[in-house]
Amino acid sequence: MGILINSLGVIRLRSIVSIVKVINGYVYEAVSKAIDLIGGISKYVGKGDRVVVKPNLTRATNKPHICTSPEVVAAVIKLCNDAGAKEVIVAESSPIGVDTEKAFEISGIKSVATKMGARILDLRKCRFVKIPIPRGKVLREVEIAEPILNADALINVPKMKTHYGCTITCALKNMKGVISDLSKRIMHRAGIKRAIAELNTVIKPTLTIVDGIICMEGLGPVDGDPIRMDLVIAGEDPLAIDSICARVMGFNPEEIEVLRYAYELGIGAFKPHEIEVVGEELERVVRRFKPPPSDLREYFKLAGIYVKNACSGCISTLIIILNTFKEEGILDKIKEYYIVTGSINNIPKDAEGRKIVLLGNCTSKFKSLGLFIPGCPPRLGLAIPVLKMGRLVDKYEVYLEKYYT
Ligand code: SF4
Repeated sequence: MGILINSLGVIRLRSIVSIVKVINGYVYEAVSKAIDLIGGISKYVGKGDRVVVKPNLTRATNKPHICTSPEVVAAVIKLCNDAGAKEVIVAESSPIGVDTEKAFEISGIKSVATKMGARILDLRKCRFVKIPIPRGKVLREVEIAEPILNADALINVPKMKTHYGCTITCALKNMKGVISDLSKRIMHRAGIKRAIAELNTVIKPTLTIVDGIICMEGLGPVDGDPIRMDLVIAGEDPLAIDSICARVMGFNPEEIEVLRYAYELGIGAFKPHEIEVVGEELERVVRRFKPPPSDLREYFKLAGIYVKNACSGCISTLIIILNTFKEEGILDKIKEYYIVTGSINNIPKDAEGRKIVLLGNCTSKFKSLGLFIPGCPPRLGLAIPVLKMGRLVDKYEVYLEKYYT
């Protein structure tokens, strides 16, 4: 932390965020330098510590712009081992509907972690502990995986991406991967932006190291485009990190609701004068990322879509469906429907008189009112034929579809 003296002469601590360029693909060197610039690994990991490293595994994929890079995770494990950690655990609970173990395997993280003596842990299979959120307005409590609470050090290793719904996803949002599926659903119902901020009042990573090497722009956090930045960004304060990452991506942090809520809740520094950037000059690494669309209706030119309280599972499924119909030149078919997904209390008023499609288990209580596609999230192999045929389909019809999975 640096020192900040305000106009009244009051001394406050400034959060320090380091920005380091990855040169010629030397990832370990960049991660190590980023941590050295904020005090060195021994400031965060002691001899005999049990360390949990939390990457972002949004999907079971090896596409480099979706999940945290295995090279960054490997660098963090090596630094922890060298600092004398007794045990390093790489832990994640991927979004609802994504198999975390598969994600570890396919992303390449399992392979590098086990080679370096670290343990892989699917947090979805762990015991969860209810933790009250005293400053919560939309969340009263949250279920956090026990190994996270028992760790001597929690190292957050998010990916820098755009996010449909939250504008960016980075340090604060990555903490959603340490809670139970039940808590994830509650967060979406409660309003994800405020809920992310409130969650971060009770989970405090010891250190955050952002994989800003191959990032994502546009329709993130899954369906956007890769953008190479070759950066590693590190710090202790997750809000300061997200504020700097937003600026690196060309966004104004003041316009990002999650960050504003986090600031109101006192999670950390947010304004430029409260943060000291070390390493690369911020202005020299800024790129204007393509923003995520603010409204899927506008993006796909479809009025009949309601996704307000859906999580990334159903939103991503819906985006793949819409892109598939678009590529096949049959997007007009979707215009017949009003598609509702996510947790709802009522059917939206503008759906009246339309053929309603209820996508995902969150909509099941209204299933008698329309064409219900079950699943959490629904399988594409089922959803696509149902939407193409406009009716429920049998197993044989699903089998005939090329999206059978
Ligand atoms: S049904 Fe869809 S929106 Fe609801 S929790 Fe499952 S994936 Fe998320």
